Amino acid sequence: MERMMTGDGRVRTFAECRNRRNRRTLLRVSVVLGVLLAAILALLFCLGRFAGRGPFAPGAAQAKYSPSSWSLIVVNRWNRIPDDYPAPKLTRLSNGESVDSRIYPDLQRMFDDMRAAGLHPEVTSAYRTEAVQRQLLDEKIFLYQNEGASKEEARRQASQWVAEPGTSEHELGLAVDINASGATSTKDSVNEHQWLADNAWRYGFILRYPRGKTDVTGNAYESWHYRYVGAEAAKAMHESGQTLEEYAK
Ligand SMILES: [Zn+2]
Repeated sequence: MERMMTGDGRVRTFAECRNRRNRRTLLRVSVVLGVLLAAILALLFCLGRFAGRGPFAPGAAQAKYSPSSWSLIVVNRWNRIPDDYPAPKLTRLSNGESVDSRIYPDLQRMFDDMRAAGLHPEVTSAYRTEAVQRQLLDEKIFLYQNEGASKEEARRQASQWVAEPGTSEHELGLAVDINASGATSTKDSVNEHQWLADNAWRYGFILRYPRGKTDVTGNAYESWHYRYVGAEAAKAMHESGQTLEEYAK
């Protein structure tokens, strides 16, 4: 049997030496793999914690809220309504819908001017509780499932049109869906929507989800959804073509 002398003066067979070498190599590979795995996990954790993405995401991050710039809060699919957001004081409209009382005077003024221009606007949806938002989403998912989509696919499709509870501006009381009174399709509201696109900024409202900005707003184009941001911001955004996400950055 072949033998060799080791550094510490012990005599080992070649087979023993080879085994020891193999064990050392295995140990090194394990350490490298362990470090790599830890790095990947740390990266995913940071991505979830700070960007709200991946397996460690705690759901959407909380939107930044400051009472002094309340009308500029950015709530979307990536930024949910923060835990410290105060429940809005509501003003009830004649058709039963409600809005944050702070936007009511400007909304009323806008509607007066629309009616004076021969239009027939109606707020078809305004403030929603989180429970109502959840119900809307569940109904939409149910609809897609009825059309044959799997639960997962139905949820994906529904979320393109109805926001997850906690991420809808309607839960702020600062957003209104405006259509022609009695409209059954968007075609019926063309005149109202055109007037709003041209003039809503004068009253502090913006078309919140414009065409071609879905990657910024997270929402498909909606000709009926208007958001109150205040006169100064609405004017600036109307002139620059910026979305709320871009303006409030
Ligand atoms: Zn809406």
